[in-house]
Amino acid sequence: MHQKFIAYDIDGTLLKVESNYTRKLIKNLFERYGVEEFKEDARTFAGRTDFDIFSGLIEANGFDLSVFDELKLAYTSLLDETLQSAHVESINGVNESISFFTDNEIPIGLLTGNFERSAYIKLNRGGLDKHFSTGVFGCNHGDRRMLAEEGIELARAYIGSSFEPKDLIIVGDTPHDIHCAQHVGATAVAVTTGYYSREELKSHKPDVLLDSLSDTEMWFSSVQ
Ligand SMILES: [Mg+2]
Repeated sequence: MHQKFIAYDIDGTLLKVESNYTRKLIKNLFERYGVEEFKEDARTFAGRTDFDIFSGLIEANGFDLSVFDELKLAYTSLLDETLQSAHVESINGVNESISFFTDNEIPIGLLTGNFERSAYIKLNRGGLDKHFSTGVFGCNHGDRRMLAEEGIELARAYIGSSFEPKDLIIVGDTPHDIHCAQHVGATAVAVTTGYYSREELKSHKPDVLLDSLSDTEMWFSSVQ
């Protein structure tokens, strides 16, 4: 068996935060900064990096990007103070999937659009943070595909000289996750537990398309 590295997306793949929770939190945050009529971002947040979401909202609401770091810190602090386990829904099959890889000593990590701190806050409330100690995060890039390039470096560091791009397995619930894998020649595993249907995901041609991560041994054997 060729060594692999598994990189999980978070929202819609490992867990779901209550609908509109983060949107309300962000609106509240901008109001604290004196914005009277918060300008929403009509686009979905799914599959986008926090860097992309925040820089768009900062500009739409009349700030310049020099406030980015301050707002990021305020947002992650507010998330930490307010997010409860009750706001986080665990997704069926995730624990089985993680156990399969850890039992077989296959390294796992995160590949998420979340800021690093937000990622670990969400995982903590979902009871999953203990399984993850590494990953790439949406702190620095507006384009999710750049995360894949960092993911390649991370996976190469674990696997060593035998590493090939397809040994990085990117697991996610949106077309962005699929494109991200395709951008670097990684293996794209798409799962319908998020906000996209099987048909929508299928049209982006993932290597594997699943309705649940639960039967990991089966799908993992198909990407060897
Ligand atoms: Mg997602």
